[in-house]
Amino acid sequence: MFTSVSGRSVIVTGGSRGIGKGIARVFVRAGANVVITGRDEAAATACVEELTALAESGGSAGGSVSYFLGDVARAEDCAAMAATALERNGTIDVLCANAGIFPDAKLVDMTVADMDRVYATNVKGTMLAVQACVPALARSGRGRVILTSSITGPITGFPGWTHYGASKAAQLGFMRTAALELAPMGITVNAVLPGNVATEGLAELGEAYRASMEASIPAGRLGEVDEIGYAALFFATDEAAFVTGQALAVDGGQVLPESLEALSAAGAP
Ligand code: NAP
Repeated sequence: MFTSVSGRSVIVTGGSRGIGKGIARVFVRAGANVVITGRDEAAATACVEELTALAESGGSAGGSVSYFLGDVARAEDCAAMAATALERNGTIDVLCANAGIFPDAKLVDMTVADMDRVYATNVKGTMLAVQACVPALARSGRGRVILTSSITGPITGFPGWTHYGASKAAQLGFMRTAALELAPMGITVNAVLPGNVATEGLAELGEAYRASMEASIPAGRLGEVDEIGYAALFFATDEAAFVTGQALAVDGGQVLPESLEALSAAGAP
């Protein structure tokens, strides 16, 4: 039986939709006090309303949720995010550094601005969010940092995403040294590597695209956003205190087949 994270203070950057919303939902259900972040107020408000309704309908062990608007690529916004969580919830126990963007551009067409934009959010934004929360995470005594990386970059490649793949692999490089530096403060730093997950953005790409993605996954389906949340929740427990600097792929076996033949021999639909 895992220790409850009820009452813990959790920040989920990019928690207003997609995977971040799934992570936030899992922590709210577990009774945590969650601050979600994003830049778009309409999405953040809608998410808080949805998760508050869940908490108030008895779907939570006393959890709460609120939002903070800010850009993870700006140090001052990350500092204000940490200050806001401290003011509202008294401490910061868990930071889920999840905010990320994935615009596509082939390498031959990619501009310096394209590269800078992806790196600013995915790499610098991760580092700034962690840096801003370290003092409070250290005071917590059981600080947890959980990064949302990806299978794309650390394990696989996808045309159009050289900058994105590099940024997701960079998060793991950051994680390993951060885990070393923060271990003496009682803080662990781990990463979840989602495979293809069903988000609002994916739904916009249409049924044919979804079907082709499902066909490449041995489990025969896309991941659910909450399934990324469950992996994050594990890293946040007291029982995971001795796990640090680790990357966990949550992908329904997507990276395992060595060929299309291996995939069909496994009986994938
Ligand atoms: P999404 O639906 O587009 O949501 C992205 C979230 O990040 C939103 O809340 C967005 O809010 C926020 N965000 C983006 N840029 C930001 C910035 N500069 N500052 C603050 N917040 C920002 O994306 P997703 O698919 O859930 O992806 C979330 C994470 O999972 C990313 O790190 C992504 O690389 C990773 N991932 C996703 C998949 C997948 O299948 N979906 C697979 C592997 C990895 P605003 O736009 O309002 O700022």
